[in-house]
Amino acid sequence: MTATDLALDISVRRVAQSRLPEIDFNHLPFGRIMTDHIFVADYNGKEWTDLRIEPFAKMSISPANLTLHYGQTIFEGLKAYKTGNHEILVFRPDQNAKRMNKSAVRMYMPEIPEEIFLAGLKELLEIDRNWIPTTQGSSLYIRPLMFATDEYVGLQPSQTYRFIIMCSPVGAYYNKPVKVKVETHFTRAVEGGIGYAKTAGNYAASMLPTQLAIEEGYDQLIWTDGKEHKYVEEAGSMNLMFVINGKLITASTGDSILDGITRKSVIQVAKDMGIEVEERKLAISELIEAIQKGTLQEAFGAGTAATIAQIIQIGYEGIRYELPPVETRKISNAIYKELEDLKYGRIPDQRGWMM
Ligand code: PMP
Repeated sequence: MTATDLALDISVRRVAQSRLPEIDFNHLPFGRIMTDHIFVADYNGKEWTDLRIEPFAKMSISPANLTLHYGQTIFEGLKAYKTGNHEILVFRPDQNAKRMNKSAVRMYMPEIPEEIFLAGLKELLEIDRNWIPTTQGSSLYIRPLMFATDEYVGLQPSQTYRFIIMCSPVGAYYNKPVKVKVETHFTRAVEGGIGYAKTAGNYAASMLPTQLAIEEGYDQLIWTDGKEHKYVEEAGSMNLMFVINGKLITASTGDSILDGITRKSVIQVAKDMGIEVEERKLAISELIEAIQKGTLQEAFGAGTAATIAQIIQIGYEGIRYELPPVETRKISNAIYKELEDLKYGRIPDQRGWMM
């Protein structure tokens, strides 16, 4: 995909002085350092207007801002990478634009035209291109955000909204294998709910249960279905995938699971490698049985942050099950390598995924 044909009228107001010289690129705490500029567009009740790039700065918000009260807000997360010859590559941004619009529809917010999303992103990356780290494994985390801007404390959908894209340079992700606990009390999402939308409430609701699991020595939760707590859904910010008897198995997406872009990319790469993939309901009992029989060969989370995060322990009903060593996991290690090579431009992009 090229972005050269995405010319829209975007005004640019640059910072007087870049903060770049102050940044220690060898120590980049995740998500705390923002680049010099943001892309902004405002929805006036009828259309998106005033497309602009402006300095990253504090915004003033009315205490009556509707988002603060009722949470009408959605976001996305994706990354840009710099190749060996200083080209900027973004992994499947069109998919993020599409998913943002699915979230928008569910949260009764206006859709953002894909052209605005992509042209705004492209322009912002051109302007802040020197913020994209070049050290091995580092990247620029991109956070598109849309929120209600009406100043009204009555419960009704906002008429006006703001769309922003902000960026944060991040160091090499330390891909630590994780311990996860199967959650059988709290519920993240239900049929007919908002689980598939990338909206604030889903994440707010996950904080207490996740914290309780952390206190038990886990890193994350495996969310199960809201009705019976019997089937695997997803983890905090990753979709879950398992290799059982050589087959890659993952929950099919629906109302209650975020349709991860890494998930669909892993599935495609696996299929291209000739691996059999099953998208279906996966019962916790089937998973535990596979662990006990020794047929569970691999378990991992798939998401933008880590691409693939290996799972080394699963806790269920008070028992901690140890999983096969990470070095033995041929399928996920091969898929991980292919995706990372693609993102950093080390192999040809035959699927047309990189912008
Ligand atoms: N599930 C949830 C709940 C998430 O927040 C994320 C991160 N966006 C994912 C899965 C993985 O999605 P992606 O591969 O698009 O990052």
